[in-house]
Amino acid sequence: MTDEIATRLSQIQSRIADACARAARRAHTVQLLAVSKTFPASAIAAAAAAGQNAFGESYLQDALARQPEAEALAGRALAWHFIGPVQSNKTAAIAGHFAWVHGVDRAKIARRLSAQRPEALPRLNVCVQVNVSGEASKSGCAPHEAADLCTEVAALPRLQLRGLMCIPKASEDPQVARPAFAALRRLFVQLREGGDLGDSFDTLSMGMSGDFEIAIEEGATLVRVGSAIFGKRQRH
Ligand SMILES: *Cc1c(COP(=O)(O)O)cnc(C)c1O
Repeated sequence: MTDEIATRLSQIQSRIADACARAARRAHTVQLLAVSKTFPASAIAAAAAAGQNAFGESYLQDALARQPEAEALAGRALAWHFIGPVQSNKTAAIAGHFAWVHGVDRAKIARRLSAQRPEALPRLNVCVQVNVSGEASKSGCAPHEAADLCTEVAALPRLQLRGLMCIPKASEDPQVARPAFAALRRLFVQLREGGDLGDSFDTLSMGMSGDFEIAIEEGATLVRVGSAIFGKRQRH
């Protein structure tokens, strides 16, 4: 399994590089987030041994249980990103155990995450989730709400606003997501050029196993790839 994961990771890295080349972008402008939800700590350690540093998790309890084990196997600390929906009763644990949160779509959640971020840790990196068009989940703020929510997140003392995130409806045809990716990109550029969100507003989190190349062509700076690295998920 270890070899298989290393092979798949390097295949994904070359597909990222090819997509960057097609879009006339430099390869290091796209970060790969390995979405490890539901996979065992040994699979995470195998990816870490192949050089992967950032891992995405959606199920909080499951993630908290596997983080220490994965880091012990890997022999180093890993960068954990929470990519699932954020409910109020989970904010303390998320603020204490993750470096990034991608699904912030309400000011109330942002305020709780900031208040609960431990002082000993650096600021929590946040992407605001936007429902650009027919999203798979009901989460994500409306596009017209994104500017105010970003401004609010940027002002919170223990959060670092990093960018925008979306989850377009799943489809067999990766081209179906292209307009949603393009819409998120336009919103991102508009907010960035608006000026007040700071230099750290640099991340467009979009694209998954089935459509990450399209997302890169449309400007993604972080792609969230699970099954193409770790294999088919057995549950959830
Ligand atoms: C599960 C998940 C992914 C990864 O999906 P794959 O299709 O397995 O690559 C990416 N983003 C989010 C928000 C997810 O929940």
